[in-house]
Amino acid sequence: MNDCIFCAIAAHELPATFVREDDEVLAIRDVNPQAPVHVLILPREHIESVAELTPSQDGLWGRMLHVAQAIAEDEGIDETGFRLVVNTGKAGGQTVDHLHIHLLGGRPMTWPPG
Ligand code: 5GP
Ligand code: ZN
Repeated sequence: MNDCIFCAIAAHELPATFVREDDEVLAIRDVNPQAPVHVLILPREHIESVAELTPSQDGLWGRMLHVAQAIAEDEGIDETGFRLVVNTGKAGGQTVDHLHIHLLGGRPMTWPPG
């Protein structure tokens, strides 16, 4: 057993608001939303970050992007626009060391990010 909160959420040992879930990929609402739509898309498998991805996981990564796209449609932000963020490592702002894509939308985004 590891002590990863996203692994615990994936195993339904910790509560979360699920948007989607299948055998490979899940999507949950962020507990501390930074936009009207703030969903996290993550693999069921514990992968630490983008820095750890291998070519054998290209298919999984592609699926995660398509799940993000589908949720953007479901949430009605596909036409107005949205932002995908993947914080990676300490300086990248990653606080949970289980790979995840932030899907943010429902308000205009600014650039540069903080
Ligand atoms: P990171 O900083 O690693 O890019 O993003 C981690 C995200 O996970 C943060 O936006 C944070 O609000 C969210 N988060 C942390 N703990 C939990 C939790 O227990 N449940 C949910 N749904 N989100 C969490
Ligand atoms: Zn994990």
